[in-house]
Amino acid sequence: MMKVGFVGLGIMGKPMALNVIKAGYPVVAYDRNTAPMQAIVQAGGEEGKSGKDVAQRTDVVITMLPNSPNVESALFDEDGIAEGLSEGKAVIDMSSIAPLASRDFDKRLSEMGVDFMDAPVSGGEPKAVDGTIAVMVGGKEDVFKKFEPLLKTMASTVTLVGEVGAGNITKLANQMIVAINIAGISEAYSLAKKAGVDPERVYQAIRSGLAGSVVMDQKSEKIFSGNFDPGFRIELHIKDLQNVMDTSHSINVSAPFSSLAMEIMQSLKAHGHEKEDHSAIAEWYEMINDMKLQAD
Ligand code: NAD
Repeated sequence: MMKVGFVGLGIMGKPMALNVIKAGYPVVAYDRNTAPMQAIVQAGGEEGKSGKDVAQRTDVVITMLPNSPNVESALFDEDGIAEGLSEGKAVIDMSSIAPLASRDFDKRLSEMGVDFMDAPVSGGEPKAVDGTIAVMVGGKEDVFKKFEPLLKTMASTVTLVGEVGAGNITKLANQMIVAINIAGISEAYSLAKKAGVDPERVYQAIRSGLAGSVVMDQKSEKIFSGNFDPGFRIELHIKDLQNVMDTSHSINVSAPFSSLAMEIMQSLKAHGHEKEDHSAIAEWYEMINDMKLQAD
């Protein structure tokens, strides 16, 4: 059985690594924060001393880190993953990062004879824990086939979308749709509330019609309770929408609604709300309209 390295054991990475261990793969894991390591070792995983050490002791290294600069540093800094790689090994980056960065990492690793795929995920912590995240993959078909069973230990769906970079393009599309959807829902509920119509009843009336969505179902409850514990943090969604803007401008695409959604979240960050769930976009509408969407 192939030996799996795992670098990045945060909210998502730790439960994902535990699912790989549960499926019977030998795992060597590393995070510069040692706190999550106890759970990994208790489950039967081994502790790596650095990215280099993890790569030396395994056949494929999975990374789950915040953004492009973190992945670059984990791969190419001193004692990083690249120093422990050799021809025939592979890296699967499951972080949500800039697609052009994925292509750059692929180019640098392929010069060493190392396969690379970008495989960002959707679903959040609960789905990472129960192994039902959705994985969107960019890479070569034969590399995908080789690692599909490994990815399936963490996910309910694993889809090859195209060449390297296509996984993160898909993730950006997902993040655009989610952000714009939350803003649309909040704006509509604000209209209802100020017109004297209960937004919860509006939700019940329209959720099975054309305006209904998974986003509406998952986020309305948070909006009506006023409980914005994350979930998916505003600061991470700003990071994704910044990657949307950088990518879209680099290929001459205009994305006005994504830009507006990002600025709404930036305004929330300026007010100290960056650690809250992205459904807190509703709080911004409460601020600009001087009202509350919570049930009276
Ligand atoms: P997190 O901040 O909880 O975890 C990141 C981990 O990486 C931390 O434990 C940190 O110590 C470690 N780290 C950073 N740089 C490192 C380095 N150079 N070497 C070793 N370890 C390093 O983040 P998360 O919520 O687990 O998210 C990870 C990725 O998954 C992000 O790209 C995020 O956008 C994406 N994502 C998150 C969610 C979610 O709901 N949290 C959902 C889907 C996708």
